[in-house]
Amino acid sequence: MSKSISELIKEYFNKYPNKELKHGPVVDWVTKQWLKNHKEPPRDPWRAIRKLYQEGWLIQVRKGVYKRIPGYKGHNVLTPFSSEIKEQIFKRDNYRCVMCGNGLHNGYEIHADHIIPQSKGGQSTLENGQTLCSEHNLLKKTMQQTETGKKMFVRLYSLAKKEGNKKLLDFCKEILEIYEKHNINCHIKWDK
Ligand SMILES: [Zn+2]
Repeated sequence: MSKSISELIKEYFNKYPNKELKHGPVVDWVTKQWLKNHKEPPRDPWRAIRKLYQEGWLIQVRKGVYKRIPGYKGHNVLTPFSSEIKEQIFKRDNYRCVMCGNGLHNGYEIHADHIIPQSKGGQSTLENGQTLCSEHNLLKKTMQQTETGKKMFVRLYSLAKKEGNKKLLDFCKEILEIYEKHNINCHIKWDK
């Protein structure tokens, strides 16, 4: 029986415990092993590495660099709020959205939200929880996505400036001005 991609990745990381490993050479090695038993190259080995990180088997040192600590049981990233904690969050916030005050008393659905997102290491604790209505819950998720977009345009904008690429500069500027016009993600600054 040939090994699965994630078994091969684990095998490689187990060979180098506590070492910071770039995903490139890991993917190369896994691909080589895989091709001993298969005609086609493996699909998305880097994604399998990411998955092992998301499951807590690997630690991400920085972008594209991972580490396996033997015996490490994993970060607590994907545990949702327990129903008990959820109830405590709602109760503390008076069963109302902390942004707009709508809540059970006037017929709005409420959600328990992670103040620091789980993807950024936020825990499912009372302290890291807040009550949001459906609208603000959705808005918060959307804002996180527009944040990623804005950061990208800020980077592109400064690159265009450096390279004197007028067309790209104008394009990015216009988009960033729309962010400003709508008061979206104002905490992300850009050099005009
Ligand atoms: Zn609300």
